[in-house]
Amino acid sequence: MKTVIVIGGGITGLSTMYELHKWKKANQSDVRLILVEASAELGGKIRTVKDSGFVIEAGADSIVTRKASTMTFIEELGLQSEVVYNATGRSFIYTEGELKQIPTDAVFGIPASVESLAKSTLVSAEGKVEALKDLYTKNETFTKNDSVGAFLEHFLGKELVEKQIAPVLSGVYSGKLSDLTLASTLPYLLEYKDKYGSIIKGLEANKEKFQIGGERKFLSFRSGLGTLVDAFENKLADVEILKNTKVSKIEKENNRYKVSFVNQEVIEADHVVLSIPHTAAGKILNDKEIIGEFDKLKSSSLISVYVGFDVPDSQLPTEGTGFITASNNELTCNACTWTSRKWEHTSESKNLLVRLFYKSSHPAFQALQKMNKEELLQAALSDIKKSLGISAEPITSEITNWSDQMPNYRITHSQSVEAIESKLAAAYPGIVIAGCSYYGVGIPDCIENGENTARKIIALQ
Ligand code: FAD
Repeated sequence: MKTVIVIGGGITGLSTMYELHKWKKANQSDVRLILVEASAELGGKIRTVKDSGFVIEAGADSIVTRKASTMTFIEELGLQSEVVYNATGRSFIYTEGELKQIPTDAVFGIPASVESLAKSTLVSAEGKVEALKDLYTKNETFTKNDSVGAFLEHFLGKELVEKQIAPVLSGVYSGKLSDLTLASTLPYLLEYKDKYGSIIKGLEANKEKFQIGGERKFLSFRSGLGTLVDAFENKLADVEILKNTKVSKIEKENNRYKVSFVNQEVIEADHVVLSIPHTAAGKILNDKEIIGEFDKLKSSSLISVYVGFDVPDSQLPTEGTGFITASNNELTCNACTWTSRKWEHTSESKNLLVRLFYKSSHPAFQALQKMNKEELLQAALSDIKKSLGISAEPITSEITNWSDQMPNYRITHSQSVEAIESKLAAAYPGIVIAGCSYYGVGIPDCIENGENTARKIIALQ
């Protein structure tokens, strides 16, 4: 009998195991399936907390509908009736002491029409004129391997990028635009530039794809994203699930693998899936040949602070769903989501719940990382007071430090991943990597990667 161990019970490990389990049942295989998770709960970066009448997502808060709709997991898990969608509203950038609206007709802050550019209150007249060069400047040198920052600045000008695009885009992709490639962020911008002669015109021609101003861009579940984790777990009837079980090392022995746990137990396996962050994978393999490749992958940190108030959320600007900050650092947070506005299910009584994001790109971050939870809460309350004018006492807070847990796909990312894959295949056949450190950070990407990973393992049976 063969044994497959999946290490890491985040969404990638769960999806991998779900596919393996389906295959086992369909083929009446006697393969032994074991899912090992270090913490007390499955889900990893998906963790729903319920407190004081609020539904709080300590990690991921939603799934991009566009990607999920092409996949079958919601239906297969029987979750259709649980799905809820975000409310649409206006987003702001907090700059020069006030909230200024991001033009609605824009994709990641990039104008999707000349009118959108003209209406922006974030950019000066000179900045707008500079951005118009996009309409008549041809692309002669840029490829998908160039930085998205250099590409956008070349055609749309520095001011528009700095004041309107970078705050949005670097927030979404957790990194400086100069460190991120077009390939790993918005590869279609290059296609549009080449096909339509202009980024703005290209976005305008493809507006429907981005559901600009449309509803239902993101989805979650009535009781939070934890529903997805529970649904996967409930389907794994014939899988041994070991929680509170941290893997400490893996050693090769006669074409099999000895997987050791911190509690001193050992299980032997034929195939091992490493669906854990790359830093953890490097540590447990502890192989000088491969560790250098793992070390080339980079991640950044983020502190998430939720604050709930016994105050109606109608106090906030009409139809607003949150703001991001421009690079001028007037606040210590990088962004603030008005969660109870954006997601009705998070506050039945329509009390105000906000989430502040603190990222390692912010100059104040080093100091914040040394703070305890009470100090972090005070920093958040100060940001809330300055930006929203709310000084009520909170009734709940939930603070999570995602230290080094946000993968940054740098320019050399895909080469590093390929190097790890080929070194593993040569030295450790039967061990594969999976998950957000390598193959895409969004939940749909992780689920798809889990399916592909299971197929790789099945092909070896
Ligand atoms: P993880 O969730 O990191 O799972 C890895 C698991 O491995 C963990 O449970 C960990 O405990 C376990 N583990 C680690 N080491 C060991 C060991 N030695 N032995 C055993 N187990 C181990 N994506 C979206 O699509 N939408 C969002 O809104 C969104 N927002 C996000 C907000 C935040 C704050 C964060 C941090 C991420 C967000 N993401 C979002 C990204 C998404 O949540 C992640 O990319 C995805 O959940 C990663 O899943 P994973 O299974 O690959 O890894």
